[in-house]
Amino acid sequence: MTIDATAKGKDFIRQSILSDLSEGKNESRVFTRFPPEPNGYLHIGHAQSICLNYGIASEFQGRCYLRFDDTNPTKESEDYVDAIKQDVLWLGFNWQEHLTHASDYFEDFYNCAMQLIEDGNAYIDSQTADEIKSSRGTLNAPGAESPYRNRSVAENQGLFERMRSGEFEEGENVLRAKIDMSAANINLRDPVLYRILHAEHQRTAGQWCIYPLYDFAHTVSDAIEGITHSLCTLEFEDHRPLYEWILDHLTLPHRPRQIEFSRLNLEHTITSKRKLSELVEKGLVEGWNDPRMPTISGMRRRGYPASAIRDFCKRVGVTKKEKSIQIAQLENSVRQELDNNSPRAMAVIKPLKVVIDNYPEDQIESLAANNHPKNQAMGTRTLPFSKEIYIEENDFMEDPPAKFFRLKPGGEVRLRFGYIIKCEEVIKDNNGDILEIHCSYDPDTKSGSGTSKRKVKGTIHWVSAKQCVSATLRLYSTLLSAANPKSISDLNEESLTVVKNAALEENLAHASPGDRFQFERTGYFVVDENSLQGEELVFNRIVTLRDSWAKMQKT
Ligand code: ATP
Ligand code: MG
Repeated sequence: MTIDATAKGKDFIRQSILSDLSEGKNESRVFTRFPPEPNGYLHIGHAQSICLNYGIASEFQGRCYLRFDDTNPTKESEDYVDAIKQDVLWLGFNWQEHLTHASDYFEDFYNCAMQLIEDGNAYIDSQTADEIKSSRGTLNAPGAESPYRNRSVAENQGLFERMRSGEFEEGENVLRAKIDMSAANINLRDPVLYRILHAEHQRTAGQWCIYPLYDFAHTVSDAIEGITHSLCTLEFEDHRPLYEWILDHLTLPHRPRQIEFSRLNLEHTITSKRKLSELVEKGLVEGWNDPRMPTISGMRRRGYPASAIRDFCKRVGVTKKEKSIQIAQLENSVRQELDNNSPRAMAVIKPLKVVIDNYPEDQIESLAANNHPKNQAMGTRTLPFSKEIYIEENDFMEDPPAKFFRLKPGGEVRLRFGYIIKCEEVIKDNNGDILEIHCSYDPDTKSGSGTSKRKVKGTIHWVSAKQCVSATLRLYSTLLSAANPKSISDLNEESLTVVKNAALEENLAHASPGDRFQFERTGYFVVDENSLQGEELVFNRIVTLRDSWAKMQKT
């Protein structure tokens, strides 16, 4: 294996891995895992963990398991399993043949638990959940030992077998590690390892009625799979002594090492499956894949390219410091990717009709337009131009301020890829609202024709009124108003604006779900995945053209 000998410039996790390798640990293997609980959809925080674990596995020619942590059947489902797999693949990673489930190891967990019992390191506690909780002590006071703590090995074995065979009600007994009720670290105060749950499991059905708790199942799974570096978020730092205690007290084939890093927190965003599922269950969003959701499926539907999410995760990197990342950083990654790769198109969000009086009545002219200003390989297309066009309502002002370089009475503006037009007359209805604008065009000013020497300051986008398609546009802003939301109570009432009857160039009539464009001067848009062929097109705004956040924060 060739590994960059210098750890310089690498994050602390990669440095640790390099140092383990240089010490010859783990037979030079690097195995990681991504262990989601299938109780909801993956979010941007998980994306960070996926990029880290799969990224490391590939850099070190190792492997990364996708392991479903399915030890809590009442909250989990196969639907979530499928959604999670789809999201990991879409992000650009592949577990190959290393797809596992904690439930694959239920028998191993049971045997490990029995080993702890036989060695006097675990016991059956018959206290109630409340009694166990109230005897755990506090940060300042030690806990109290359970009256059942000194049961004999034989009694514990018998009880554990009977727990497995279904003789007890939920909560009647639990298996606890026998560690130290006065340990400074509360996680070491005889933590519960197994509980009774008379629930059907999505994979093992009614085979089990006792289920292991996370710390136990996770540690043993890591050891069975030969995970060398078990990467988790900082809240598990206090669990590491328990992780190691379990490894110390069992005979297992491998000894993994837990390393913690800080969670990814994004401003205006909740990264907790539990809270996100609340949004879904209360109907506050369309579903897990609502384009405003920070879920991978939501971001996909929003039009974020997978490569942009990977780029963002890479830029954020891994550290030990808790911090909150600005949304603008994620949007910048998205914008950069889209700027390079999205074809341009013309779309008028709020159409205002312009009649070009000196243009021949039934003439339709084809204007050449490049699909990307910097990338010729993306080719060209034609735009029909005719006597009646639509321009953006706010590209015309009757009483504009001094530096308004768009259309105004008596003023001139260039139509993108077309001619210079001059505003001759404003037609209004009885209420004084503008109905249409009458203009003249200068036939000698066609873009790219070489004959046009005249220049005007402003260029605006437009579509031909007869040759255009109507579309619904969904404009998004953040789902939550607070920069660091703690709950979902702080919903932004204006997170979604629906614009009907936007006018798009007719070339877009055949755009398919998932197609992305830059609407010139307006933003990046994607055809919604539920937009049906033959019906009015629905586009989601992926991101604005520029960072409107920076601007907002300045004012
Ligand atoms: P949630 O609270 O959203 O359910 P979780 O940690 O309980 O998060 P899991 O399905 O257990 O969800 O997470 C799988 C992996 O993803 C874990 O290793 C976890 O550490 C990691 N992970 C979860 N949230 C984040 C985050 N915000 N940043 C980085 N990694 C995360
Ligand atoms: Mg978890």
